[in-house]
Amino acid sequence: MPRPILATVHPEALRHNLQRARDCAPDSQVMAVVKANAYGHGIERCFDALRAADGFALLDLDEAQRLRALDWRGPILLLEGVFEPRDLELCSRLHLWHAVHCTEQIDWLAAHKTQVPHRVFLKLNSGMNRLGFTPAAFRSAWARLNALPQVDEISFMTHFSDADGPRGIAHQVAVFEAATADLPGERSLANSAAILRHATSPLRGSGNGHLAADWVREGISLYGSAPDYPQHSAADWGLLPTMTLSSRLIGVQQLRAGDTVGYGSTFTAEGDLRVGVVACGYADGYPRVAPTGTPILVAGQRTRTLGRVSMDMLAVDLTPVPEAGIGAEVVLWGRSATGAVLPIDEVARAAGTLSYELMCAVAPRVPFAAVA
Ligand SMILES: *Cc1c(COP(=O)(O)O)cnc(C)c1O
Repeated sequence: MPRPILATVHPEALRHNLQRARDCAPDSQVMAVVKANAYGHGIERCFDALRAADGFALLDLDEAQRLRALDWRGPILLLEGVFEPRDLELCSRLHLWHAVHCTEQIDWLAAHKTQVPHRVFLKLNSGMNRLGFTPAAFRSAWARLNALPQVDEISFMTHFSDADGPRGIAHQVAVFEAATADLPGERSLANSAAILRHATSPLRGSGNGHLAADWVREGISLYGSAPDYPQHSAADWGLLPTMTLSSRLIGVQQLRAGDTVGYGSTFTAEGDLRVGVVACGYADGYPRVAPTGTPILVAGQRTRTLGRVSMDMLAVDLTPVPEAGIGAEVVLWGRSATGAVLPIDEVARAAGTLSYELMCAVAPRVPFAAVA
């Protein structure tokens, strides 16, 4: 029998979460963001559930090729554009849309020989200061692109730094609207947090009528996680978990007062305590920094981790599940066979990180269950 750790993707939850974005932004087309191998879920595993999206967004050319190999003929947007001139050949061949965020990318396009003019998304740096042209440089970038025979359609994009937090998006929307005001073309602004928190205002019904009809880029909420946890939970947003990381108990220890658990003896029992040992450790992608008390499900019951996470194992408190023994189901995050759910956001928070990182970190040695 293989080691009992297993990751499971829930396609019906992906479908449901995609529909949630549609409900929030009914006038927009939805790009499913599947970068980082669909946030660790596996592009091929998610594809069927996500083919109802209007397009896909990602950044590895290899992942774009995999989508085309799945016979996806609709839009694919390269969020970071091309990394070197010869990537443009693949864009021409596979009909990829690509972001243009720096003058070098325009130079490469100008030198690119193609029969197939490209659709590009000119990216504005509206305050994130990661990728994009400054407002001052934006118009001349547009004018250069507009004059290129290699380009047949120019759309506009920007990315929000604070859609999930108190600073919000209004300041960046204002910068975007000023920079793009009279330029023709489709717009794409919103990530998951903006879709859920701000899609009804000011994006919709703002002075710029384009914003409603264009493209939103849904990432993390597609994967069932609340972008603004803990202010809102996934359940608050009506999102369902799309990934379960599960394993089983492979050992049980009976502790007495003063006994300790694991490396560094960081946990000491105050009295009699039954401890379960789970086949899951940091080499599986579970965060080593998750402290004693991180939530976990055993046989569908919520309990807590104890002591340090080691490479291949971690320990849990069996007090709430006195009947659980070797072979009992353990859910690190996601959904138990009993129907109980442990939101990945809660585990991430306990470990001082975000669900994004946990999903993307599931290790290659963890097998995925076949998706029906
Ligand atoms: C990753 C990414 C998104 C999706 O962000 P979420 O917070 O996961 O919804 C959208 N746009 C760009 C440019 C991205 O890089």
